Order: sequence, then structure tokens, then C-alpha cells
Amino acid sequence: MTVVTDSPPGASETDLGRTRRARKIGRVLTETHPDAHCELDHSNALELAVATILSAQCTDKKVNEVTPKLFARYPSAAAYAGADRAEMEELIRPTGFYRNKTDSLLKLGQALLDRYDGQVPGRLVDLVTLPGIGRKTANVILGNAFDVPGITVDTHFQRLVHRWRLTTETDPVKIEHAVGALYPKRDWTMLSHRIIFHGRRVCHARKPACGACTLAKLCPSYGTGPTDPAAAAKLLKGPRARDLAVAAGVDPELVPAQAIAAEVP
Ligand code: SF4
Repeated sequence: MTVVTDSPPGASETDLGRTRRARKIGRVLTETHPDAHCELDHSNALELAVATILSAQCTDKKVNEVTPKLFARYPSAAAYAGADRAEMEELIRPTGFYRNKTDSLLKLGQALLDRYDGQVPGRLVDLVTLPGIGRKTANVILGNAFDVPGITVDTHFQRLVHRWRLTTETDPVKIEHAVGALYPKRDWTMLSHRIIFHGRRVCHARKPACGACTLAKLCPSYGTGPTDPAAAAKLLKGPRARDLAVAAGVDPELVPAQAIAAEVP
């Protein structure tokens, strides 16, 4: 893909210009990632809280391998509060940092029992008081278990909004507010999923697939990764890698089978 621009998008941009570009990015992401969703398997707020705690320093895929057994063994806050530590550690060991995570899960169960009748509360102010749950986790839970719009500022989200020059803030809470102001509140949860999807499949930390990216014309950081379509197509990841190439106007045949089979981080 050849992108010809007089000056890079984002250069000496007005606030209105940035908001318009941000909204366009949002629309392109909606078309690019129609499958975007919370990648942590769960069927209720407690399961999502537990899965999110386990996802620290671990891929969602690995968490999803562990949680079916865990959720069956501990179906309630009371079950977590009364769990045998050694048994739980063994179940969640593949997710790493299993001692700390077990500690958080036992304390979470107890705190939910003591303060919230065993239920996960649906308000940010309450969620952030719970063991193992910070603001990022709380927003994931609000957005996906309670339908309360929330922005999830994880490592992918931070990297991408900086590459797009939507904000220069570096503190996650300030990023959340700055980016939130650019989009309607109702879009926050899905926008977060789509940005994270794009970060995992296209706009990687080390080598972003710029030459096979649907956002090339809107991105001031176009050229951070290879712009040659053949080189960029190899960097796309996941089962929809060929669809992502097509969406960016790149020949899907340039996407190798390994890219489709590649584990999404
Ligand atoms: S053009 Fe490159 S840097 Fe910009 S969003 Fe796409 S992959 Fe990321």
C-alpha cells in the first residue's frame, strides 16, 4: 500500500481535527475488527473478575485454558473465600505468579462475602476497593459484565493511542479521560476491545504491520513498521489475518499460513 500525504496526520492538528480523526479511526476499527470482544471467557461478573486477575502478565489464551476447571471448582465468592490455597495454586499455576494470584482470589472471595453479600458490585468506586482489582480491571468488569461503558487502558491501548497521537498523557487514568473525551461514552467498551484487537493483531509493539494496516492514512506513526505490503502482511496475526489484509487493500495471498496460525499475544 502506498500512502501519499502532504504532512502526516496529527501534525499541527486542532482539537476539533483530532476529534474528527479519532472518530474516523474508531469507524475504521469497527469495520476492521467486527469480531472484537472481551477475550477472557466468562459467564458472569465473578468469573470475569477472576479471569482478569489471572490475566496479569499472562495471555488471555492461557487464562482461558485454566478457567473452565477453576470456575467449576469455585462457583461462588464463598467458594473462593474457603478454598484450599495449595489446591488453588496448582489449578492456576500455568498463568504465572500463581502465589500472588491465589492470595488475591482468596481475599477477593472474602471481601465480597464480608462487604457485598457475595456479589460483585457494579460501581467503579466499590470495585477498586477489592483485592486484586485496580481501575483497569474494574473497567473491564463494568463494561463487560454490567454494560456500564468503560475504557480499558492496557499496554496495547496505551501504545496505540500514543502512536495515533490522540493524547500525550502517560498516566493511565489521564489517558482514560483524554481518550474518553474524544468518543461518545456509549462506544467506550467496544472501542477498547477494538483498539486492543488491533494492537494484538496488527499494530504490534516491536514491528507494527504498517503496510497492511487499515489505519495507515489516519496514523501519524505510519512507517514505524514495514510499509512494504509483502513484509507487513507477514506480521498480521490470528485466524482473520487474511481478512485484515483484504481490509487494508493488500493481497491476502501475501499472508503466510504461520501468520494465521500465530498465537495472538
Ligand atoms: S499505520 Fe502502523 S503504527 Fe499506525 S496503526 Fe497502523 S500498524 Fe500501527
